[in-house]
Amino acid sequence: MSRVSVQDVATTCPYCGVGCGVRVGRDADGAYRVQGDKSHPANYGRLCSKGAALAETIGLDGRLLHPEVDGVRVSWNSALDRVSQGFARVINEHGPDAVAFYVSGQLLTEDYYVANKLMKGFIGSANIDTNSRLCMSSAVAAHKRAFGSDTVPVNYTDLEQADLVVLVGSNLAWCHPVLNQRLLAARKQRSAMRLVIIDPRVTPSCDGADLHLALKSGTDGYLFNGLLAWLHGQGAGDAEFLARSTGGAEAALEVALTHATSVKIVAEHCDLDEEQVRQFYQLFSRTEKVVTLFSQGINQSARGTDKGNAIINCHLYSGRIGRAGMGPFSITGQPNAMGGREVGGLANQLAAHMDIDNPDHRRWVSEFWQTDNLAPGVGLKAVELFDAVESGQVRALWIMGTNPAVSLPDGNRMRRALSRCELLVVSDCMASNDTLSFAQVKLPAQTWGEKSGTVTNSERRISRQRAFLGAPGEAQPDWWALCQVARRLGYNGFDFEHPADIFNEHARLSAYRNDGERDFDLSGLVDLEPQDYADLQPVQWPCTTGGEVNRLFADGRFFTPDRRARLVPVQPHPPALLPDEYYPLVLNTGRVRDHWHTMTRTGMSPRLSAHVKEPCISLHPDVAEQVGLVHGALARVESRRGEALLRVDISGYQRRGEVFVPMHWNDEYAASAAVGRLVNPAVDPVSGQPEFKHTPVTVSAYQAAWYGFLLSRRPMHVSHANYWCKARRQDHWQYELAGDDLPLDWARFARDLLCETDSQPQWFELHDSTQANYRAARITEGRLDAVLIVQPAMDLPPRDWLSQLFGKVAIESVERRCLLSGLPPSGLQDTGAVVCSCFGVGVNTLRQAVREHRLASPEANWCSRIA
Ligand code: SF4
Repeated sequence: MSRVSVQDVATTCPYCGVGCGVRVGRDADGAYRVQGDKSHPANYGRLCSKGAALAETIGLDGRLLHPEVDGVRVSWNSALDRVSQGFARVINEHGPDAVAFYVSGQLLTEDYYVANKLMKGFIGSANIDTNSRLCMSSAVAAHKRAFGSDTVPVNYTDLEQADLVVLVGSNLAWCHPVLNQRLLAARKQRSAMRLVIIDPRVTPSCDGADLHLALKSGTDGYLFNGLLAWLHGQGAGDAEFLARSTGGAEAALEVALTHATSVKIVAEHCDLDEEQVRQFYQLFSRTEKVVTLFSQGINQSARGTDKGNAIINCHLYSGRIGRAGMGPFSITGQPNAMGGREVGGLANQLAAHMDIDNPDHRRWVSEFWQTDNLAPGVGLKAVELFDAVESGQVRALWIMGTNPAVSLPDGNRMRRALSRCELLVVSDCMASNDTLSFAQVKLPAQTWGEKSGTVTNSERRISRQRAFLGAPGEAQPDWWALCQVARRLGYNGFDFEHPADIFNEHARLSAYRNDGERDFDLSGLVDLEPQDYADLQPVQWPCTTGGEVNRLFADGRFFTPDRRARLVPVQPHPPALLPDEYYPLVLNTGRVRDHWHTMTRTGMSPRLSAHVKEPCISLHPDVAEQVGLVHGALARVESRRGEALLRVDISGYQRRGEVFVPMHWNDEYAASAAVGRLVNPAVDPVSGQPEFKHTPVTVSAYQAAWYGFLLSRRPMHVSHANYWCKARRQDHWQYELAGDDLPLDWARFARDLLCETDSQPQWFELHDSTQANYRAARITEGRLDAVLIVQPAMDLPPRDWLSQLFGKVAIESVERRCLLSGLPPSGLQDTGAVVCSCFGVGVNTLRQAVREHRLASPEANWCSRIA
């Protein structure tokens, strides 16, 4: 099918859980244009750098366009037969629990619904889990324990109306940038609004904060137990609310008071200044409207559920919930983590927020789906699931829209598990990633811009993702492939023709036997006509026949059997593994601003790749000095599970004993930077969420024999370097290199590296054998094709001017003479490293503009002047 375009389509950004609305149109020259949707209540027209660069990521480079079995292109029929016959054989021989699905918060709700229905309703196993397990399953478990339901009780407007916002374990400025923009705008309007950050690191979210508690990693539960004890000591409990709407306060208090006997003790335990802790506690207890927003820093812990409950306890104890401008707010990482929760995409859930271990719920879902084979109980959670694949207990696995070889902890073991799987099916839009390399069956999936359905954001708002591109090759929606397999397995109930059919069934199930005792209710959206579904505007659930219910828990009634919320006693526990003499530092992992997950999409954008070009380790200057590292050097990082080779970033933003490594890089983008290989696979005992934030590691200097970089118009397979990483730049790729062995023949080395073609290139070379310096440039048909610079020292020439030359149709002779120096001829400007991704502004351009325009503040809006 051709990639037909449609004018001005309203859809939703496919990245983070803010769920911004975007409008996609085309310029006069036919180029796609993505802008924030001014009418969407999540963002009102705002976008962050990732959303603004979406148009750069819709090309077909690297796409999987046809089904493949055992590396050979086949028809969809053959591929689907192989999947269904393989699954049927394993189920017949080993039972339904020998098969599994591992899905993703990137799936649309309609895909998720069908996957869950097939596995739990008809195959008869609950072995379906999702990568959202890695992101927010501890928050789900904490909600269930406290509220009796997985309910997020806060809206984005509450963040703006709060008088105190507490960000815990959340770098909102980078991970949910538009929500951060809304928060900053609200603070500008209301100067009395206070912002407290609780995070071991200094992050961009700390800019302008009133207080930053840089606590010792893993001690958040202790800090909030201390707050509960403080609220009690100050008489700040809401006695009427506690008596009417809660239970468990005494038990929770008893535990808190046992451990957090004084502010001093809490401060010592968290390694914080006592006065700062007191200040935070006073702010919380004296402020009525408090929102505590928490994210992966809380969830990705071996005690993440307890930490979530420690936060919720404080809100329940003080009655700060169910009213405007207040409440505990778990924000989701992925665009449709919430949709996955709605359909029961986690192995311990049933559909429509029903409980898999509740006999009534099981009966109702069986009735509704007309099945007598509903899964009898909880299935395997992500880490357990891959353990079961490794041991052979799970023999057939279908992975959709996620890259677990990179994203799960203990990555080497995960890869071993994948290599042992009898039948591994992977549905993906890309032809190559770390997980796909193990697949026997590859199914081409549609991606953003091509697929059509719904997603739900962090404030329970359902929005349409609409297609504006025709699907390339034979790519199909995931729900379609699932239905085809279900039919081949002989199951009824999978005759959906359109995502609207699936959404309608999903909405009907939410309303089925729901007399207000279940929070998730879409009865107001039941049986939408196709045109209504096509036109569906963003809507928050619950959405009953009476309309949207914007404020949950306003009546003080929750979804437990007695309709009272529960305060949960939180016994503080240390992280699963503590540093020791061999692994003395604590590894924390997380996101950078401009990349998303394993870079499948953002790695295609030159603008986004300019922000952080290399996988790096951030560490405190004192630690760097101890191990003999300087800024920009290379470091070997080792844990008990694996190792990585990373660029050193020294900053005072880390605590002394803690280091930070981004989660995005993988074997497609770097030689050895997949941080999951290092991460300890300890999981939370309640939620099963892994502890990504606390793995003991050791760091040492890596001294290479040579360092270099390669700029190449074509992507290369670099096997000659011990260290390499690549980043997309405008019209070319940038590789950073380092190696242990000096080649004997540099010219041969360069030609091997650049995969010499027959097109008669012109080579410019400089080889100083005494200094082991080698520089080469290749020009093909007048255009710069590649530049390679290698030397024994790390202080390589700058890349920025050379990079600009890739945009030229012909290299002038004056430029040719300078190519091997890496510096522009005198009189020409090197724009310098890009510092503003949105507009591609280099540091030198910026300095010049600041000088020329005498700009004195960011408000002078230099960015737009330059652009
Ligand atoms: Fe997309 Fe999130 Fe950025 Fe909004 S904040 S544009 S949803 S990445």
